[in-house]
Amino acid sequence: MQTAVGNKVVLIGAGDVGVAYAYALVNQGTVDHLAIIDIDADKLEGNVMDLNHGVVWAPSRTRVTVGSYEDCADAALVVICAGSAQRPGETRLDLVGRNMAIMKSITEQVMATGFDGLFLVASNPVDILTYGVWKYSGLASHRVIGTGTVLDTARYRYMLGELFQVAPTSVHAYIIGEHGDTGLPVISSGMAAGVSLRSRAEADETFATRINEIFERTRDAAYHIIDKKGSTSYGIGMGMARITRAIMKNQEVVVAVSALLQGEYGREDIYIGTPAVINRTGIARVVELDLQEKEQEQFDNSVQTLDAILREFF
Ligand code: NAD
Repeated sequence: MQTAVGNKVVLIGAGDVGVAYAYALVNQGTVDHLAIIDIDADKLEGNVMDLNHGVVWAPSRTRVTVGSYEDCADAALVVICAGSAQRPGETRLDLVGRNMAIMKSITEQVMATGFDGLFLVASNPVDILTYGVWKYSGLASHRVIGTGTVLDTARYRYMLGELFQVAPTSVHAYIIGEHGDTGLPVISSGMAAGVSLRSRAEADETFATRINEIFERTRDAAYHIIDKKGSTSYGIGMGMARITRAIMKNQEVVVAVSALLQGEYGREDIYIGTPAVINRTGIARVVELDLQEKEQEQFDNSVQTLDAILREFF
């Protein structure tokens, strides 16, 4: 597998999500150089100045610069947060046409520099657009990662942590499938504070209802946040910083991302949310969870939803 060199990151698209990611990255001191590209030159320059003024308090120095596509030539990672955000009441899938054209243009400009690293895509609908970046780039699929259900999973772990009164890091449960309305919780392999979610739900109807409500709140969280503040940004920014750290430090941690399926879950030729091992090479491997029959049906439905859109483009 190809190994990216250095730890330079180029961020393309510094809106609410991109800036939240940049802020998390600088705070964590994961990379030496963060170059940022955006079509809004003034806002970009303001954000770069502002981020640099916090660097003195960060655990290590990150050089934050106004970037250009030439920066991609020696970058280890290109992160794409460009595009339109979801508008109130709009589903992520409604965004697809607008953002696919942006992905094509960005990917072609990145590849023209001789870029030899990894892509991380957050723009929505993320599963569809990550597939697009993979196709337009011509790179091996392990080098193109989508943020997938990293945010959905983080929300789910947080809310289950509240229920069990433990930190979300003591909850091990994944949301898989589309980053969107058809994503599903995998109760059957979920654990919180050492308790099997499946066993507890089978034994206790009240608990089963509560974790179902938690899933519904997880699924609908983006709509509520967008209604209240116009966009979601900090949660996804921190999830992206987590994936970046896993890559740069070669950590081999399991994170829910959007990855190309090649037979896992009985499916192929689709990018979709699943746990995967993330290391310096990108997606080292997809982790295929054992699904119960109902979970597999829900997952298949999620695949079909994405597939119907994807085939309009590829
Ligand atoms: P935003 O409108 O605040 O920012 C988008 C930025 O992209 C703007 O600064 C804009 O100038 C820039 N841009 C647009 N076209 C560009 C191009 N061709 N080249 C460079 N820059 C370009 O939007 P946001 O709230 O930051 O959201 C960005 C994307 O992230 C959206 O698609 C949104 O739906 C998605 N998102 C994903 C997740 C997730 O979990 N994956 C979560 C939240 C938002």
